[in-house]
Amino acid sequence: MICKNLAVNNNGHLTFAGRDVTELAQKYGTPLMLLDEDRIREKCTIYREAMKKYFTEDSMPLYASKALSFKYIYKIASSENIGIDCVSAGEIFTAAQAGFPLEKAYFHGNSKTDDEIEFAINHGVGHFVCDSVEEVSAVNEIAGNLGKKQKVLLRITPGIDPHTHKKISTGSVDSKFGVAIETNQAYELVEGVLKLENIELTGFHCHIGSQIFECDPFCDAAKIMIKFIADVKKLFGYEASQLNLGGGMAVRYTEDDPEIDYDANIKVISEIVKSLCNEYSVKLPQILMEPGRSIVADAGMTLYTAGYLKEITGLKNYISIDGGMTDNPRYTLYQSPYTVLLANRMNEPSDYKCTIAGRCCESGDIIQEDVLMPKPQRHDIIAVLTTGAYNYSMASHYNKVPKPAIVMLKNGCDFVAVKRETYESMTANELDIY
Ligand SMILES: *Cc1c(COP(=O)(O)O)cnc(C)c1O
Repeated sequence: MICKNLAVNNNGHLTFAGRDVTELAQKYGTPLMLLDEDRIREKCTIYREAMKKYFTEDSMPLYASKALSFKYIYKIASSENIGIDCVSAGEIFTAAQAGFPLEKAYFHGNSKTDDEIEFAINHGVGHFVCDSVEEVSAVNEIAGNLGKKQKVLLRITPGIDPHTHKKISTGSVDSKFGVAIETNQAYELVEGVLKLENIELTGFHCHIGSQIFECDPFCDAAKIMIKFIADVKKLFGYEASQLNLGGGMAVRYTEDDPEIDYDANIKVISEIVKSLCNEYSVKLPQILMEPGRSIVADAGMTLYTAGYLKEITGLKNYISIDGGMTDNPRYTLYQSPYTVLLANRMNEPSDYKCTIAGRCCESGDIIQEDVLMPKPQRHDIIAVLTTGAYNYSMASHYNKVPKPAIVMLKNGCDFVAVKRETYESMTANELDIY
């Protein structure tokens, strides 16, 4: 199995976090998103402890909450004593509702509106990560109007190609995110920002992409950023006290993916950071990292009920399910690999090849192509593994399909954290106009 929270019980049923998922599907209905809270906390602990151990005492992970954002997950982040990365006022609002201490929030995004900037400053968001010259001046102006001084990191484009899917690669010079070192614009930006009255520059940020298996791209980015900090110190006499290295560490979606040792990766990156700080005579900054996927992905599983089998003689087989791109658009977007299992018949031979077809009116609505499993029948339970990140948070109402419930698994207990949507809740904003 690809993750240690998976097993098979005596009934030949798949278990997740020690629980029979076929029984959970019966209890809560499908499509259903299960989340293994103990696994989320384990990942938070790995990052938190490794960063403290290998960098400075105050270094910490920020959970990149766009991966999966709902109130209870901010409660977990808060009790794990880590920060968060938010990308909209909606995420900040949700975290605030959960009582998350927003001084530990970092507000990201390349297109923050005036209203969002004001909202974030008023809610006491600790840091903004600014993406452009114009954005910093907007934050400066709005902070001034509110009589506040805002802490800001600048997002720098290090010019790195991390060998991942183009749509999730963000560190190259032509990216829509950040300000490039290569073009000198990053230096010009720092020089300008240091003169702004209502901005306190605390350091720099970079994020090179997502689902990155190798450690090298992170090390390369760290090298470029430390050199940048040193150059800025030389040019303007300003020494950064924070360096945010972004997110992007990969998770295992299939048996073909290698295992990842997050602690070991952080150690390798730390050695490079520390030796370069030494070499350039800059103080070791507080280091931040922004794991999203690697915190929640393998803590998640989606359960579907099998619908109809369509066998196209000599060509292809499809099994339809009661969900699809509305709860998981990732195959449609990026042809993402997933492990798919027939949860209620785990001990039968996987000798039947079929494609898992979503229920939407799009030929591209596929969860996975040509999966080997026992020949599925109506009402079987189909489990898609590693769906904790970028599934529910990317869900839509296409075809007016309600979003699934999120059920937490913790210490052998199960409880609903997000209710299944109803037809009424889906249409609640629609006015009756005659
Ligand atoms: C998406 C994103 C992350 C999280 O990336 P993961 O691959 O999920 O770890 C972190 N920081 C920024 C700026 C991002 O855009």
